[in-house]
Amino acid sequence: MSPTLAAPHRFTKIMPTLGPSSWDEATIEQLILAGANAFRLNFSHADAARHRQTAANVRAVAARLGRHIPLLQDLQGPKLRIGQMQQGVVLQVGQTFMLDLNPTPGDSARAPLPHPEILAALQVGDTVSLNDGVLRLVVVATAAGVVTTTVTAGGILSSHKGLNAPGRRLPVAALTDKDLADLVVGRALGVDYVALSFVQTAEDLHQARPHLAPGCRLMAKIETQAAIQNLEAIIAASDAVMIARGDLGVELPPEEVPPLQRTILAKARESGKPAVVATQMLESMIESPVPTRAEASDVATATYAGADCLMLSAESASGKHPVEAVAVMARIIARAEASELWHPQGNGGPLNPAQGLTASCATSTAAATLAQQLHASAMVGFTETGATSLNLARTRTPVPQIGLTPHAQVARQLMLVWGVMGTVCPPVHDTDSMVQAATQAAQTAGLLGPAERMVITAGIPFGASGTTNLIRVVSGQTA
Ligand code: PEP
Repeated sequence: MSPTLAAPHRFTKIMPTLGPSSWDEATIEQLILAGANAFRLNFSHADAARHRQTAANVRAVAARLGRHIPLLQDLQGPKLRIGQMQQGVVLQVGQTFMLDLNPTPGDSARAPLPHPEILAALQVGDTVSLNDGVLRLVVVATAAGVVTTTVTAGGILSSHKGLNAPGRRLPVAALTDKDLADLVVGRALGVDYVALSFVQTAEDLHQARPHLAPGCRLMAKIETQAAIQNLEAIIAASDAVMIARGDLGVELPPEEVPPLQRTILAKARESGKPAVVATQMLESMIESPVPTRAEASDVATATYAGADCLMLSAESASGKHPVEAVAVMARIIARAEASELWHPQGNGGPLNPAQGLTASCATSTAAATLAQQLHASAMVGFTETGATSLNLARTRTPVPQIGLTPHAQVARQLMLVWGVMGTVCPPVHDTDSMVQAATQAAQTAGLLGPAERMVITAGIPFGASGTTNLIRVVSGQTA
């Protein structure tokens, strides 16, 4: 059943990508007022100077509005692309087509592929897709520096189109030289999350982590078949995941994407890691001021499945209606969460207590159960690192949560997490000041009326991380 809320509170969050349609201060402000909780900076586009300006704009607007808004730096990763093509090349089904190292512009018989290691890795029988899966080739022969294919799905092939080899583990590092340079920029900007593209193994994440600023969180983009095969290890090695449905839908047939979305959401939740659903959520709104019914249904479906956050890409970065896209998404989520059909604890079923919960996680789980049984109006978690709030969110208890932390970056990072309102408060030193701070935060948020109760969880000794061991019930009447 839906909770009765003292104030409107949306559990599933919204993260628009900023771009030419939206990176000015005025539009950023409108996006936040329309419901944006976080922003993505897409390092596949724009230069460092532009990203610096955009980040500064977000920080300025957030400060003006008194909001905690996290920034996600999305690295380009090893996106493979063919070289230059002559104008007007069209591939026909059944024809022979070569990929080679010859740098001269390609034609209807061949295309340059300036990646010798990929040409060497491809094997007879492999599928190669071009232009986000629109064109498909099957490898029929390989030789030094050249791969011969037969076209199985034809169409126009223009310069620099992306190339995928679904199912073939490619010898590419998840961090390119561009990514390493962009990570230096991200550190200087103080980004709150870094998303790593084309992750294939947990090792890719281990290699990236030392390049992050202390406190910055690492998000794994799940978009390759290899990542699906190594899903558990990748979730364990990351702080958050993104279901990057654009490339995932190229690597796999489209019918595989919806069940994988459910599976990844359930596994991420089980591990207490936030999960973002990305790409084509409101695609038609790039042009149109209203979404299609199917898009509205996609947003609602991700909400019903308990996604932490939904992302907008071109809709907000380069589309004609960025603010409307956020507003529509916020309305669809709010409507789904108000529905009798909303059972956020449903996806993945009950959490498995046999998983060897830590005492901290077990205490948070108990606090969430208590909040639900008491029909509490709020849960308040005191957190140094965000872990207590993640443990509470993991239960998907439909009670608004406030994450109280002394650290502004942790408060920002929590804004991406299901149901959590990250809030900064000075460190507390005893239970009286704890209750006082929690009460004030809940009342300010409109989440604790006189006839309501809230559940607080924290750790003693105060200020130490990983010690969640205290639960307190507070009534609005006596607060
Ligand atoms: C995706 O493929 O869905 C995605 C989010 O990645 P990008 O936009 O960087 O291709």
